[in-house]
Amino acid sequence: MTTLDELPIRDDLRGLSPYGAPQKHVRIALNVNENTHGIPEEVVDHVLAALGSAVRGMNRYPDREFTELREHLARYLSGPEGTIHPEQVWAANGSNEILQQILQAFGGPGRSVLGFPPTYSMHSILAAGTGTRWIAAERDAAYEISVPTAVAAVEAHRPDLVFLCAPNNPTGTPLTIDVIEAVYDATDGIVVVDEAYAEFMPDDAPSALTLLPGRPRLIVSRTMSKAFAFAGARLGYLAADPVIADALRLVRLPYHLSALTQAAAIAALQCAPQMLAMVDEIRGQRDRLIRDLPALGFTPLPSWSNFVLFGGVEDPHRTFEALLAEDILIRDVGIPHHLRVTAGTEEETTAFLEALGRIRA
Ligand code: PMP
Repeated sequence: MTTLDELPIRDDLRGLSPYGAPQKHVRIALNVNENTHGIPEEVVDHVLAALGSAVRGMNRYPDREFTELREHLARYLSGPEGTIHPEQVWAANGSNEILQQILQAFGGPGRSVLGFPPTYSMHSILAAGTGTRWIAAERDAAYEISVPTAVAAVEAHRPDLVFLCAPNNPTGTPLTIDVIEAVYDATDGIVVVDEAYAEFMPDDAPSALTLLPGRPRLIVSRTMSKAFAFAGARLGYLAADPVIADALRLVRLPYHLSALTQAAAIAALQCAPQMLAMVDEIRGQRDRLIRDLPALGFTPLPSWSNFVLFGGVEDPHRTFEALLAEDILIRDVGIPHHLRVTAGTEEETTAFLEALGRIRA
């Protein structure tokens, strides 16, 4: 058997580990922060009809500029806080690919990206894949980032890009808009705000989208994978100055969004209210986790997302395995004495809390 080490792989990839959220077939999967509510049947029918028409045209390449999809995404993002125009929007196969394209265009060998771990594990993995140096900056207590902490890190390291995650994964903790503003002012580089969980934020919390006017180096990354209940379709997108899309056109693969992806995403966006109908319910289950975990002896962190990181776990590996034995999959994110759980349906959340109570007893 040939080992990876024997291949002439890039030296800077030797010894690295791939993204590795365990994939297991379980009754209750609360491990990768999906929307665990099924897609409503009327939306399924609408998406299927759109896919049918797309298949009839599949002898041709898809629209390389995904014009119609960008119009729908722009409409979805526009709201009381302001208007987003289609030329400000760019999309790819998941926000992972969005972030990869950003690093391909603005990072690369000799360049650096600064992030604030613990944060989304793909940020540093994508940096490695694109040969961009990853700089890990410190957070304050309780995983927060204050303006002085963020600005000091940017001024000390002078990175080419800064990745901010708002709210942050895996901690769920918020990032206030003044930090994003201050980071933008402190750098000449690109500032990326990963808002994968934006729809779960409090209704009165402003998104980084409100900062876009007059800030051409700011990119707000979003996804249909979380609140929008469309993780399997792989559709991520960003909003930024239109010039950012010009940069990404230099690195994207031609026709990177398949006709099927575009058709499915447009159809789902046409049903946005139905797709987002469960967001309030999920926020309720998240708040219930935060309310009920202390009675079991755990210490949940505040969360603006659809998951909760909780401390006070004596042996995370043992608790993870004990839950798995009950057919419940959550996530050990490698933070000592902590585990992360996605807020599921009411039944799933109940099953998780009851199982945890039994394990604890
Ligand atoms: N950003 C964050 C913070 C995430 O947690 C995730 C998914 N776990 C992503 C981006 C990527 O999501 P997707 O590629 O499905 O859009």
